[in-house]
Amino acid sequence: MLVLLLAGCAGVGAWLAWPTSGPPPVDPPTGDETPVEPTTQYVPSNDPPSAPLSPLPLDETCEAAAPAGAAEANAAGLNTLAWAPFGRAETGWVIYAPRIGAELATACGPGTTRFAAALARWQAGHRLPQTGVLDQPTFDAMKTRWTLARPFAAINARGECPNAPALAGLSTAKADEAYGGKTIQLRPGALEAYRRMVEAAREDGVVTSRDPRVLTIFSAFRDPAADAARCARDNNCQGVTRTICSAHRTGLAMDVFIAAAPGHGPDSSADDNRRAMARSDVYRWMVRNAGRFGFVNYVFEPWHWEWTGEPPLPGVPISSLPQDGSQPLDQGAGTPQPGLKGLLPRKNEVR
Ligand SMILES: [Zn+2]
Repeated sequence: MLVLLLAGCAGVGAWLAWPTSGPPPVDPPTGDETPVEPTTQYVPSNDPPSAPLSPLPLDETCEAAAPAGAAEANAAGLNTLAWAPFGRAETGWVIYAPRIGAELATACGPGTTRFAAALARWQAGHRLPQTGVLDQPTFDAMKTRWTLARPFAAINARGECPNAPALAGLSTAKADEAYGGKTIQLRPGALEAYRRMVEAAREDGVVTSRDPRVLTIFSAFRDPAADAARCARDNNCQGVTRTICSAHRTGLAMDVFIAAAPGHGPDSSADDNRRAMARSDVYRWMVRNAGRFGFVNYVFEPWHWEWTGEPPLPGVPISSLPQDGSQPLDQGAGTPQPGLKGLLPRKNEVR
């Protein structure tokens, strides 16, 4: 089950995880599938926000009729659930609480009866037992929806890899939009949408002068030829994910600075680091608002966002791409290393 861990910048994991004899499992549309409307709500967290945010809407109280014991079970599971949502053992679901809250269209915290009631309704709409308790089958159903909301991942699910745009057609980010002085290139439409989003985040007070790194871009377009050369040189292709067919080849994907726990970079998938991101005001704002600007997130990586305003270019079968340097999927990549406290070897991180 390491394959879904690898889905971030490529989405290939989803393709590998689904049966090849039929289409990927897509839930039929139900009444509650309308996209979450952008609101001024904040997204639930087990921590109070550090900055003042808009209050709950007047019509939402956090008490509702929910399955007995569900709110208590969620409050406990939030920090104790032993599971492997992306193939790697994790404890609790603090990391995913903001996105789940957005999916449920509630700003009430995971330990409230409102949250449990909303979850039970969501489960009913997806033919799951209406326990009101977040468990792996429920999360897996959400994850499938989130994956298919990413055009790149949906294309990968068909075994195809989009082609890269011409370099001459890309736009370059300004210095203050790039993290650490990097040269950042995106398709023009994606960069313009990013700028509109950052402006909105600034107006809402989640991008401020307190930390100029917030929402700066640390990786965007990556040339497939250069990636492939590095992959072959370093023997570091992570199965078929990062280098053979990365979302970053499309010019539509970007990695933005959300937060970084002490000792971690902005792209470390260590759980401590991802928890710090989930607790940040900016991530909670992003899961609510980035969709307004056309961006979708790969939820394992709070920093990885893909713009959906233009389709990826037509592609080629992934199987036709050079496989030099790739490793068999059952050797190493994504496998938790005992004693590393959840840290993956850097070469296995998906960016
Ligand atoms: Zn990325």
